[in-house]
Amino acid sequence: AVHRVEGFDYIDMVRPVQFDGDTIGYVQVRANLDRLVSRLISIATSALGVLLIAVVIAYFVSARLQALISTPILSLVDLMRRVTEKQNYRLRAEKTSNDEIGVLFDGFNEMLEEINERDSKLAEQNEELEVAAEASLKAREAAEAANTAKSEFLARMSHEIRTPMNGVLGMTQMLARSGLNREQQRLTNIVEQSAESLLEIINDVLDFSKIEARKLVLEKKRFEVRQVTEDSVDLLSARALDKGLGVVAEIDPEADVSILGDPMRIRQVLLNLIGNAVKFTDHGEILVSVARETSASGEEMLRFEVQDSGIGIKDNNLQLIFDSFSQEDGSTTRRFGGTGLGLAICKQLVNLMGGDIGVRSARGVGSVFWFTLPETDPILMPGNTATSAIEALKVLLVDEN
Ligand code: ADP
Repeated sequence: AVHRVEGFDYIDMVRPVQFDGDTIGYVQVRANLDRLVSRLISIATSALGVLLIAVVIAYFVSARLQALISTPILSLVDLMRRVTEKQNYRLRAEKTSNDEIGVLFDGFNEMLEEINERDSKLAEQNEELEVAAEASLKAREAAEAANTAKSEFLARMSHEIRTPMNGVLGMTQMLARSGLNREQQRLTNIVEQSAESLLEIINDVLDFSKIEARKLVLEKKRFEVRQVTEDSVDLLSARALDKGLGVVAEIDPEADVSILGDPMRIRQVLLNLIGNAVKFTDHGEILVSVARETSASGEEMLRFEVQDSGIGIKDNNLQLIFDSFSQEDGSTTRRFGGTGLGLAICKQLVNLMGGDIGVRSARGVGSVFWFTLPETDPILMPGNTATSAIEALKVLLVDEN
């Protein structure tokens, strides 16, 4: 215990003295604490002094280190930030020493240099690309404008030519009926035939250029499929009969409908296909059929087919013949005439009407030209499907084919 006696701090220590198991007395030691305290104070003072000196040294060392390492790294970080913010790859880090930090600066500068170079190369290429794109756009526009102008010119020209052509035809027909002698009659007939084929060609060119100039407008009215099909067959049956060919129209009861569409244009396609069939067939029969089918996308379609037993088409020409101005080969024009526009117009028309067109053929055996049309708003024709009226009849059908 610490005691205070006359202004001094003491510490007392009492211990018993034992001898043979008996306590024979006590020893008391009293120590003055002043010396201990003053010693403690002097130790603390010197420790504080050492600490102070260490702090001062540490401060100077860290200041030096900062100058050597932290400041350059911080300036590098700052530069990085500026480069990213301003996207300016021409900025450079200023090197202050040749140690590792200096190497780091060099590396960073090199990287900036490379980015800068790549950047300017990219910009150059970009500019070139832009120029090229602009040029090609202009060229495309010019080409499109030229093509439209061409189609419009053709459309206008063929339209203009048609009027005098009709005059030529009409007058020739009148001339033929004005009591000519046989030779004059023969010559007039040739003029009439030539005028007719010229008119046909002009009509084709007019249609084709109208479609190309996107000026063709389709009608949408109700018509009977059977009527259009049979009319087309009737129109060409005389020409077929002249060649000794039979023409048969077969309309599936299910396809005996009236639909919405452009009957004129459908007739045009049919006339073209049947006309070709008659043109390229020397003996046998031409079968025109209509049936219903479901397209791959699930749409209800009408499928028209014109089958002939004519000269057929070589496999590798099958796709070609739908291109404009293309015929199977050079000899076709010489033998059969024509412009090679018919099927191209058919294809464009059928596509415009939302259908497809195609052909199967075997050389020397015959061809089947087909096209499909969407069955828009069909109404089944009454009566035509009723077979009860002929159920009890016996029929004998004789046909040369
Ligand atoms: P063209 O006015 O020459 O008849 P098309 O476009 O109608 O023009 O026909 C192109 C070519 O396709 C024809 O010249 C002919 O070679 C071939 N072709 C068309 N239809 C038939 C067919 N039914 N049989 C054989 N070849 C055909």
